[in-house]
Formats: sequence, C-alpha cells, structure tokens
Amino acid sequence: MIWAASYYDADANLDVLKDKTIVFLGFGNQGAAQAQNLRDSGIPNEKIIIANRQDHYAEDAKSKGFNVEHDFAKASKEADIIFLLVPDQVQPRLFNNEVAPNLKDNATIVVASGYNVFFKLLQFKPSQDVVMVAPRMIGSSVRSLYTKGKGFPCFVSVEQDGTGKALETALALSRAIGATKAGAIASSAREETAMDLFAEQALWPNIIMLFREAFSVLKEAGCSDEALCYEMWMSKEPAEIFERAAEDGFIQQLKHHSTVSQYGQLSGALALDGTATREHFKNILYNQVLNGKFCQEFSKIEEDLEKEGDANPLNVLYQKSEASELGQAEKRVRARLAGLL
Ligand code: NDP
Repeated sequence: MIWAASYYDADANLDVLKDKTIVFLGFGNQGAAQAQNLRDSGIPNEKIIIANRQDHYAEDAKSKGFNVEHDFAKASKEADIIFLLVPDQVQPRLFNNEVAPNLKDNATIVVASGYNVFFKLLQFKPSQDVVMVAPRMIGSSVRSLYTKGKGFPCFVSVEQDGTGKALETALALSRAIGATKAGAIASSAREETAMDLFAEQALWPNIIMLFREAFSVLKEAGCSDEALCYEMWMSKEPAEIFERAAEDGFIQQLKHHSTVSQYGQLSGALALDGTATREHFKNILYNQVLNGKFCQEFSKIEEDLEKEGDANPLNVLYQKSEASELGQAEKRVRARLAGLL
C-alpha cells in the first residue's frame, strides 16, 4: 500500500521567504489567485513582481496593486523564486528563451503542473531548485477558498534540490498560497503527469464515447433529443452525483438514488468484465503517456494551436466531435431553448 505524506501549516516556515523577490510569470487563472493569496499571507507587495505582456492580464494585476514588469528577462534577473503560471504549451519556449538565461544560479522555479518537468522540456541549471506546487483546483477556487479561510487540495514535490533547501521553500510557498491549510499531498511530477494525462487521454475519452454511443442507442429506440439531453447531462444530475461522491464516497453516494437505480447500477457494474478496458488503459498509460509519445506529438502541433480556423487542429477536433448525433441534437435543443436556459 502506498501512503502519501501530507504537509500542514505547522510543517512550513514562512520566514524562509523573507527578503526573497518572488516573480509570477503569468497572471491568469492560477497566477492571479496565487499571487493574491501569497500577498495576503504577509509577503510584502514590494517583493512580488508580476511578469506579463502589456494587455488586460497586466492591467488586472496593476488594478490589484501589484508591480508589473513587461520585460520577462528583467523580471527573471530579479527573481529568487519564479512561479511559471503561463499555459503549459507556452512554458518551454518562454522559459528556455527568455527566462532561463537570466535566472540566478540559486533561483527556485515553481511549476503548477508536472508536464514540462517530467518530459524534461525546461532547461534548469543543476544549482537551481525546481519544485511543484500544483493546486487541484481552478484558480477562482484557489482564491475564494483562501479568502474564506479554507484550504484546498494541492500536490507538492521537489524535482531538483540544487540548494539543499528546496523542500522548505516548497512548503513555505505552499503555505503562503493557502495550500497547507487542508494538507498538501507529497507527490511528484511523474505522478501528477501520469494521473492528469491518463484522465485526459484514457478515462474521459471513454466517458465521452460512452455518452455518445448511449445517446445514439436511446435515440434509435425513439427517445427525443430534449429528453435525452436533459436525462444525460443538462439536468446537472451527473454533476450532483460527482459532488455526492466527493462528500459521501464513490460507492456510498449511490444510497441517494432509488432502490431500483442502486440495484441496477451495482449489479450492472459488477457484471461487466473490465479486462479489455484494463489492457486498453495500460496501453495508453505506458505506450502513450509515460513513454512521451503524446508529448512528442503535442509539441509538433503546439504552435498551430494559436492559428485560426481549420489550420488549428483543436478546431478540427471540435468540428468532428460536434458532428456526432449527440453534438447535433444538443445544438438543436439549445437553439430551441435559446433565451430559456
Ligand atoms: P492561463 O491560461 O490562465 O494563463 C494565462 C496567463 O499566461 C496570462 O498571464 C497570459 O498573459 C499568459 N500567457 C499566455 N500565453 C502567453 C505567451 N505566449 N507568452 C507569455 N505569457 C503568456 O494559465 P493557467 O493559470 O490555467 O495555468 C498556469 C499553470 O497552472 C499551468 O501549468 C497549468 O497546468 C497549471 N494549473 C492550472 C489549473 C487551472 O485551473 N487552470 C489548475 C492547476 C494547475 P498574456 O496573454 O497577456 O501574455
């Protein structure tokens, strides 16, 4: 059995951040939330720099009273600690070209996702610290839970300990952003990346496929578009089920359903043979995620994601997915309900 350690406020000493200049690269979902939490935890505003291009994110940071630097090289030179909070696909280009050549030899680099570290897409000096502080929450919740005095789940790890003090810095930063209040979980870039990409490339694609096929089977059996859309997701019942699962337990939440439903779900799931699915999942985990195959493919199309229309591969995937019976039916239902939803 693998037990992960959890770190609490008492395990972290904010004093290790004293006199450190802390740079946030990016002021988006995570950047805005984490920078505000850190400042509210007592890190002086004059020691925090938001590095961002001159646009609405920069304006937002200025309006919240932060010092904003548009020159990434200049901000990097100042940094004792730098949070990389720009989108993952942007990080290698931006970090390797504009940040890394200007960073101090003993700087701490903080990532909120393991992806670029695990796949070795960022170039660090051996003398630098590299830590992961990865909230399992969207940025707005990272901020709102902090302001309510509550914690949020977060993964913490040391990926490179150049100074010998990387863990204490990682824990102090976790505490400053509010992540040790409810216990930050000791993890690793490998674990975070494996779970994240597995969910994205194995679990959720199967769920999308199951919904798509279930929709077509029930439609063929005479069910209407409206009834199906509401029955399957628009009523928000699946969202409630997952909320109950988080509160009461993945299986125990079933007790909120009718007896017919409980019997059908439990006996149905036990009767399904998961052997082929397990093999399919293992194949994706080992031969697509962990061996870097997906990462290599994604790196090739990364620049195309900023293009318009069919030149952007993500747009093409949306078009194909929306062309399914489920996608088309939902479009019709939403058009009929326009203004009512
Ligand atoms: P966002 O998409 O919100 O990042 C937006 C920020 O990145 C803005 O400041 C934006 O400024 C800047 N940015 C975008 N493109 C560029 C570019 N080409 N050059 C320079 N700056 C750029 O990112 P998130 O907060 O969602 O993600 C940041 C990190 O946090 C990622 O590693 C992600 O995996 C992780 N994470 C995200 C979570 C989430 O809920 N979103 C949850 C947990 C972790 P501008 O456009 O002005 O340049």
